[in-house]
Amino acid sequence: MKGLMMDYPLTLTHFLERAAKLFPRKEIVSQLPSGTHRYTYADLHRRARRLASALERLGVRPGDRVATFAWNHHRHLELYFAVPGLGAVLHTLNIRLFPDQIAYIVNHAEDKLIVVDDSLLPVLEKLQDKLQGVQGYVVMADGPLPETTLAPVYSYEELVEQGDEAYEFPRLDEDDAAIMCYTSGTTGNPKGCLYSHKALVVHTLVECLPDCLGLSERDVVMPIVPMFHVNAWGLPFAATLVGAKQVHPGPFLHPRDVAALIQQERVTITAGVPTIWIGLYELLKTERYDLSSLRGIIVGGSAVPKSLIEGFERDFGLQVVQAWGMTEMSPLGTVSRPKSHLEATLPEEELLELRAKQGIPAPFVELRAVDDQGREVPWDGRTMGELQVRGPWIIREYYHDPRTREAFDRGWFRTGDVVTIDPEGYIRIVDRTKDLVKSGGEWISSVELENAIMAHPKVLEAAVIAIPHPKWQERPLAVVVPKDEFKGQITKREILEFLSGKFAKWWLPDDVVFVERLPKTSVGKFDKKALRKQFESYTWPPREEEGAD
Ligand code: AMP
Repeated sequence: MKGLMMDYPLTLTHFLERAAKLFPRKEIVSQLPSGTHRYTYADLHRRARRLASALERLGVRPGDRVATFAWNHHRHLELYFAVPGLGAVLHTLNIRLFPDQIAYIVNHAEDKLIVVDDSLLPVLEKLQDKLQGVQGYVVMADGPLPETTLAPVYSYEELVEQGDEAYEFPRLDEDDAAIMCYTSGTTGNPKGCLYSHKALVVHTLVECLPDCLGLSERDVVMPIVPMFHVNAWGLPFAATLVGAKQVHPGPFLHPRDVAALIQQERVTITAGVPTIWIGLYELLKTERYDLSSLRGIIVGGSAVPKSLIEGFERDFGLQVVQAWGMTEMSPLGTVSRPKSHLEATLPEEELLELRAKQGIPAPFVELRAVDDQGREVPWDGRTMGELQVRGPWIIREYYHDPRTREAFDRGWFRTGDVVTIDPEGYIRIVDRTKDLVKSGGEWISSVELENAIMAHPKVLEAAVIAIPHPKWQERPLAVVVPKDEFKGQITKREILEFLSGKFAKWWLPDDVVFVERLPKTSVGKFDKKALRKQFESYTWPPREEEGAD
């Protein structure tokens, strides 16, 4: 027997219409090269409708892919609602990918239009000969349209101006595709994920729960995570759904700009990868900002060093909340907040350990860890296994990609992350399957070593990679960036002594190399692939030196 409920599709359009009706004067602030731009949810709604009608006039039809090549700002937000709202698919292109990868993605997704920031035009201009199916480019600029070789080209502002304000978004099927995003991927070409309206709606509802990201109308939400990286982790949707004020940093991601914007707009919740917050933490040690409005810094995308969680709290009274997710998961998977009985009973140090774990699964995310033989491993906090997940906002396949086959195991999505799960259900990401150091048949977690090294007071950043070893197959090499004031004043011995006692002896890196900077991926994570390439011809130090440590 079926329930007797109204047939009411779960689509993103409702978020926008609700915010415009209930919070019409709530502000949306964008930091643009031309200055601070402010408008309201009423304006967002009005302009999104005009834009949708103009895009239809340009020939965009339901199911067509409309790509964006842009920073975080109000226009990108308008596209977030206008494109899925008219039944087309918003494809957010990662502006930091290599040109060839951008061309691959645009062609693979068969993008019809690309909407681009004027400041990013040069990248697309160089690529345009390779962008086969693109029928037009829409340029977002504050003043007159800049000169460009792209053709045909349209002005975003003119389209909005000429659009129809009386436009009504059509009724959509909740299973229709709304957004498309490619994973930057560590090997091979990027893979496409295609999110439905329903998946994003349910994801948003869960994300807003108090034990997940806990968003309310009272918040001022600033995603630093780019709108081209898994929908800025869903925050623009979540903020719109609850009617929170939004702040978008545009291209201004330097810690000084971030701190100033938090202070100026009284931001309460912000989110981004650890690199951003490591930079902010260092800045706050020497420059004063009033960040007292902040009640949560959501950090994910890579493991969050324990020292960072501890440092923010101890030195500045700021709370860091770690979350884990993936492009394939829209992206929310787990959030690390201590359960109340643990908070009440665990000593400080253990609570900190817990918050440095990736957390417990959000409602509707099911997870398990599986060993080499495909057997589920126990939730004992010790046994490692590959993390597999399933749930309503997890992809069931990659978009037109044969690599779907190896990505699934009997209905579960294989994350490629190696984890332990403790009896309370907290996962700890031990490594990527590809980044583990396999030493003498045992696994060493590069991530745990990195985090421990990054807790050293003289260290800014550290990455650990596997280097082939004649006896042990692979051994860990630590690549370390010292803080500016300690350049040339830090030794391998200091690092190894700092680590000893924290790990089994055989886990300790066989060598420590100091570098100026670490290569980062397009979304700001340590690029282990590039680092491995950089150290391709590295040879281990002579044995006696090895023994001396
Ligand atoms: P992406 O699809 O680019 O968001 O990358 C997803 C991958 O980032 C995951 O599979 C993890 O390997 C990594 N990741 C995301 N969040 C975290 C986290 N909090 N701790 C450790 N790794 C993370």
